[in-house]
Amino acid sequence: MVKWCTATNGSRHLVDEILHSILFLGKITIPSFSPEEIFGDVLDGLKNTYPEPFESCETHLPRRSPFSCVLDMVVLQNQPNNEDAIRSSLKNLVNSLEAKVLTSNSLEAKVLTSTVVCVSHSNTSGKHYGVSMSTTVPFARKIVIAASCLSSYWDEYVAGAVMSYDPDRMTRREYFDGTINFPQEATCKAYLVTDVTEYKPPCKSCQELFGLPDEETEEPRFPYGNCAEAESLSNLFKSDETIKQQCQPISPLHTPENRETARADTQMFLKDVLERARFNTWENHYYPA
Ligand SMILES: [Zn+2]
Repeated sequence: MVKWCTATNGSRHLVDEILHSILFLGKITIPSFSPEEIFGDVLDGLKNTYPEPFESCETHLPRRSPFSCVLDMVVLQNQPNNEDAIRSSLKNLVNSLEAKVLTSNSLEAKVLTSTVVCVSHSNTSGKHYGVSMSTTVPFARKIVIAASCLSSYWDEYVAGAVMSYDPDRMTRREYFDGTINFPQEATCKAYLVTDVTEYKPPCKSCQELFGLPDEETEEPRFPYGNCAEAESLSNLFKSDETIKQQCQPISPLHTPENRETARADTQMFLKDVLERARFNTWENHYYPA
């Protein structure tokens, strides 16, 4: 990312963000990884050039997973509609990281990379990408999904759909329903990062959240908000008001008051997971601010 940053205008914030996100994951891993252990010889150089993430990794939560910053970098390097170039760049990166891990003792690549990339497409706004939650660190997925909902990283409709479910019990909340119905004019398709031809039909959870078609496959059900569909649809909605309007939640339970209650419950859940992860220094901020 540091190397790519020097060759990619307007990408510095992505390095700040991925460093913060990696430092945070290091802290909540058991046993934890110190910045020295993660970055070794390059630590001092990174700290000098990118001081902010090191200063805020104890008080701020990441808004998204590290690989999502990589995705933004790769999209920035290519035209957003150049799907082939974007997906092959991601694939090459993950393959080379995995090859490196096999020959060293570094932090496992699967902690930091995503397995699935999703592409949403509409005729009015082109292509929008997302990756799945990239981490196998216990607690991390729960923390980052809640943070993506609460920090406004995800578009309000995606956050609302995800917050319609109780993340502990994987059941729909009785008082709030922000699920949506994705229109047929647009497409939303996910693929394995490491195999550009391998199409992944939406899992049951994504079907329930976003009204994606049920393709009657044996896809396992992932936690609500885990999948690449969430980020990809969020990016689509943020830049395509026409499609977003067609996805307006229609349940009578979708009221501002009920949404506030769902937010408060999500916040409580987040605090509880942070406690279990022994991360006790959060000051209610997200990074970047
Ligand atoms: Zn899914």
